Amino acid sequence: MLALLACLAAHESEARIRTVILISVDGLGLAQLDASPVPEIKRLMGLGASSLPAVTVDPPRTIPGHVSMMSGLRPERHRSFVNERKEGLGKVNVPTLFDLVAANRLKTTAVFGKEKLRFVFDTGAIQDSRLREWPFVGDFPSRFPKWVARQAAHALERDPPALLFLHFAWVDTMGHWAGWGSGTQRTAIQEVDAAIGEVVAAAHRFLAPCSFAILITSDHGGHDGSHGQRDPATGGLVDPVADLPIPFILYGAGLRAPEGTASIVDTAPTVARLLRLEIPGAWRWQGRSLSP
Ligand SMILES: [Zn+2]
Repeated sequence: MLALLACLAAHESEARIRTVILISVDGLGLAQLDASPVPEIKRLMGLGASSLPAVTVDPPRTIPGHVSMMSGLRPERHRSFVNERKEGLGKVNVPTLFDLVAANRLKTTAVFGKEKLRFVFDTGAIQDSRLREWPFVGDFPSRFPKWVARQAAHALERDPPALLFLHFAWVDTMGHWAGWGSGTQRTAIQEVDAAIGEVVAAAHRFLAPCSFAILITSDHGGHDGSHGQRDPATGGLVDPVADLPIPFILYGAGLRAPEGTASIVDTAPTVARLLRLEIPGAWRWQGRSLSP
């Protein structure tokens, strides 16, 4: 806690964040996080990390959610409503944080836990893009939390990027497999929590003190065996209370409570602010920086 306070004081003078580690835990709704033992995330809270309840966008699905996370735009603006290759999934068609980092002549390393995310986002702005695919099992190996943590440690040790984007797919995969809130999914959350602990340890080992921030969020929650299901009669979400609330946890810099509710569209503006990125005049977020 004292170390973090010293960092916060230093940031008001000359020290600056050089690396932001943005962690998206796919499918980690706030209810699942609150119900799970997560000692590593709790340890971050003990070191002074701040936490806000936030909400994702509607539809609460992986691609619409992540495009909102990385573009700062809601689905009616970014138009990425489709979630699967078989539904006609296309490349992201609005500028994202990856483009902004590249435009500032900085480096992104992205570790993708699902092939479709890399398909959508890997448009040339990401200098180091990682996904593990095998014959017959496809991207399944890249869903293992330990694999993602190992890639993160490699990236931080060799040539630390300005933006390290880590996508943990395991909690969502186990939610679809065994149900949101199931014991199996809770175990998956513990495994991702342990992997986050490895990422934090690597950051402390390889990066200078006070030079990095870690933001942990998600794309949606879920209920039963999925998320985003709609009532055919009304067209509304069947369970918005389970699907929409997500965590927003920031370590290494301050976090302010916004007017209204924090949103997934606040992610990209917050990261841009932490890295002090220059933002072109034509850039129009719908989100706000939650870092003062
Ligand atoms: Zn998802």
